[in-house]
Amino acid sequence: MVRSVYYFCKQCNIYLPDSEIENHLKDYPGHILEEVFTDKQRVRLSKLLSFLLRHNPESLDLKLENNGFTTITIDELIKRIKYRHNYDWVNKRTIEALVFLDKKGRFEIINNRIRARYGHSIKNIKIDYNNGNIPDFLYHGTSKDAYLRIKNEGLKAKNRNLVHLTSSIKDALEVGYRHSKHSHRPIILRINVKKALDSGIKIWKAGKNVYVSKFIPPKFIELKTKKNEKN
Ligand SMILES: [Zn+2]
Repeated sequence: MVRSVYYFCKQCNIYLPDSEIENHLKDYPGHILEEVFTDKQRVRLSKLLSFLLRHNPESLDLKLENNGFTTITIDELIKRIKYRHNYDWVNKRTIEALVFLDKKGRFEIINNRIRARYGHSIKNIKIDYNNGNIPDFLYHGTSKDAYLRIKNEGLKAKNRNLVHLTSSIKDALEVGYRHSKHSHRPIILRINVKKALDSGIKIWKAGKNVYVSKFIPPKFIELKTKKNEKN
């Protein structure tokens, strides 16, 4: 198996996967690249931070502000992570790299504090989402069983605080597979965002491809088909 590694370029101040290293050095000969972490470590750290910042901050004696940010600085957080979890390779650079490289924009650092941008099961977390450009259609991956319920009741926030939608059909499919038993093909739902917004439904942008809402009524939900794919 190929060991996938991420690097930091000192001159450019950016993080790069090893697949981009060759081109980067071709474009910028002499730039110095430092190894940050392996993909395995990245995934492990991402899962830990999701757990702490979305679901269970108490497990590391953390407190979160109402806007989701930790009350302690990242430096203090790193000390606790190292002590409690035996993640001795974690440092400020690995945390910054994780946030930078995350394709879904799960985390955010401001003023040396970190938060999860969405996906909280903790009550009383209120993220002010930037209500910028929302595509006309968004997608939601689910199972056949859940679809029968959604058809009648719409998409409702449940254990987590908000319903998750995505602009990426690939991401919707991934979520759908996660929720589908055995090898059943997942269902991809297409949300008519424009109509929903026009009728007063609120949808916010949360991450790069991620959008959230409290409730999407059935009338704005349809199955994604080959026919409507390009609309
Ligand atoms: Zn560079």
